[in-house]
Amino acid sequence: MRLVLVGPPGAGKGTQAQFLAAHYSIPHISTGDIFRANLKASTPLGLKAKGFMDSGQLVPDSVTNEMVKDRLTHDDVANGFLLDGFPRNTVQAEVLRAFLTEKGAPLQAVLELAIENEIIIKRLSSRRTCKECGAPAAANLEKCAACGGELYQREDDKEEVIAKRLAVYEEQTAPIVTFYRNEGLLITIGADGDVADITERAITALSRVHG
Ligand code: AMP
Repeated sequence: MRLVLVGPPGAGKGTQAQFLAAHYSIPHISTGDIFRANLKASTPLGLKAKGFMDSGQLVPDSVTNEMVKDRLTHDDVANGFLLDGFPRNTVQAEVLRAFLTEKGAPLQAVLELAIENEIIIKRLSSRRTCKECGAPAAANLEKCAACGGELYQREDDKEEVIAKRLAVYEEQTAPIVTFYRNEGLLITIGADGDVADITERAITALSRVHG
């Protein structure tokens, strides 16, 4: 299964991606996670991305596209992949299409998680993230449920940055929804409610393309 997950920040892409990747036995490739891992390790890539990330803006396409193309040449994508957080604009979507077409392995589906802004703001401002494994967690937890790691609030989950990220989504990322609808790849599900229900909704919707 070659799949892209799209939706505004806070729609639950990271959470659903973990379950879906496990269900289809494919790697979960999150550009945000790759950037954060590089930031934590203070690599040149991480340092390049930091200012953009902290202010809720997109890291330049030249940096991001090369990073993703490199990741998509690893052996573990032989049976597919789940891209989370990429593409984020139409240039990235075009680059991805060209890259996969050349490999003879085009996308099979793009799953959109649809949700209202009001719910997003509430979710993001109360979200914490594990310092160790990067998993999202609720603000009332003391430790990460997945690995016991320490939790922190992402710089870009602070209220003033959330508004910027939502604006960036509307302006730059929402157009790829139309792009993929025109390609006949788009599947939209509601992303409000219980996590397990949303996963089930996603798997049911994707069974149409996955058989
Ligand atoms: P995320 O974890 O997907 O919310 O991403 C966190 C931040 O990483 C974003 O606000 C961007 O600064 C950066 N980022 C992640 N994915 C991309 C992408 N595809 N293009 C540009 N910047 C990205």
